[in-house]
Amino acid sequence: MISVAIDGPAGAGKSTVAKEVARKKGFIYVDTGAMYRAMALYMLREGVDLDKPDAIVEACVRPKIDIRYEGGEQCVYLNGENVTGLIRTGEVSRAASKSSAVRQVRERLVAMQQEIARENSVVMDGRDIGTKVLPDAPVKIYLTASAEVRAKRRYEENLAKGMEADLKQIEEEIRLRDEQDMTRKESPLTKAEGAVEIDTDQMTAKEVSEEIIRLIDAQ
Ligand code: C5P
Repeated sequence: MISVAIDGPAGAGKSTVAKEVARKKGFIYVDTGAMYRAMALYMLREGVDLDKPDAIVEACVRPKIDIRYEGGEQCVYLNGENVTGLIRTGEVSRAASKSSAVRQVRERLVAMQQEIARENSVVMDGRDIGTKVLPDAPVKIYLTASAEVRAKRRYEENLAKGMEADLKQIEEEIRLRDEQDMTRKESPLTKAEGAVEIDTDQMTAKEVSEEIIRLIDAQ
């Protein structure tokens, strides 16, 4: 089994690149953000007060969250319901950033992620993959890009999906999420020891995935 860990802030291009690398290498792509998003959707539906960590701790043990692969795509299930299409909203992003700061939420989801990587060669993306989930991964990548470029990418992604998008609002939200994800006590987003940093501002997704494949093949 080989594990490739890709971390970085929102909109750095992690999922596009990770999917491509996984496809080329025949590995499984694991989008860990989708698990945090499914957990957040559960909290929103249950009306859990996300400013109260105790309420999150109490609620986070209840939902059943699974990852399944359908037609080569990762789908995330919440209590048996496929919620893949429901978790990409701004509301869920904000809720995920809040609930993911709680240790008990992380412990549950990290255990699931580690189990998937025990049984499969994976390209896994998130915020703490190289630091916490797969610290022994032979290939660790830290993807970055300026907040402006990241917001623009997210904006275009949303438009392409037919979703409403407001560039200024997306940029604000990305900055707020970065701040929360980088300064939290539990597994803050940071470059893992031994990670290769790739600044994607001036690179296409194809160039970034080729670079990562070179690093994998050099193992
Ligand atoms: O990657 P994505 O934007 O889908 O992640 C949503 C949120 O989930 C992030 O802002 C972050 O708070 C949280 N997350 C995390 N650890 C991961 C993946 C995502 O804390 N490994």
